[in-house]
Amino acid sequence: MIDVIKNYKEIEQRVSAACERAGRNRDEVVLIAVSKTKPDMMVEALHNYGVRSFGENKPQEIKRRHDSMPADINWHMIGNLQTNKVKMVVGRAAMIHSVNSLHLAEAISKESVKQGVTTKILLEVNVADEDTKQGASSAEALKLAEDVAALPGLEICGLMQIAPPVEDAEENRKYFTLLRLLRDEIRESLATKGIKNAPMTELSMGMTLDFEVAIEEGATFVRVGTAIFGERDYGLAP
Ligand SMILES: *Cc1c(COP(=O)(O)O)cnc(C)c1O
Repeated sequence: MIDVIKNYKEIEQRVSAACERAGRNRDEVVLIAVSKTKPDMMVEALHNYGVRSFGENKPQEIKRRHDSMPADINWHMIGNLQTNKVKMVVGRAAMIHSVNSLHLAEAISKESVKQGVTTKILLEVNVADEDTKQGASSAEALKLAEDVAALPGLEICGLMQIAPPVEDAEENRKYFTLLRLLRDEIRESLATKGIKNAPMTELSMGMTLDFEVAIEEGATFVRVGTAIFGERDYGLAP
């Protein structure tokens, strides 16, 4: 079986080295182990080793794993979320990274108020403007942030992006830089307007192929799956 602990240690070292290169403290970056489609056993092994941040892209898996696995795990919802599945995730996910519309934010807000919780969210922005990707465009992002900030039960913690799959991670550096600048711009603008529930400090960007470049450009969350758990096989259950 694949040695997830060995892999995690290697990625951890690369995260630390990237922080050092960028003159950042290691504790400024959360390494999220993206466990989607992988067996509970692997998650348990990493949990025993001390890992507390995992990423899932299916609401059903957030619900199942949150309810059946150790309570000290932070589950990050990183996948596309439909409004009718919001109640599976609110109250269970430590953060929802993939809020890509006002409609979805409204549903999360409503469920959060109902449960009496504040849900931490990130706004998903498609900086690269790829037609196939979810997410608001850069031009829409400020308006979206203002509209979402007006909703109760939410804390807008920052921005998230899924950068294009590239051979050379350097090709995505410009998109990581753009997301950081956009985050800064939105943070300034909301602060000027006295908006309180939008600290806008976080940047969720960088995956297996490009997390080091993302850290150099300011990522506060990197989402790494394949390099820790091995290739995913979508042909098999679940
Ligand atoms: C699957 C997934 C990841 C992890 O991707 P890897 O390339 O396997 O590291 C990160 N972010 C999102 C949104 C994902 O869906």
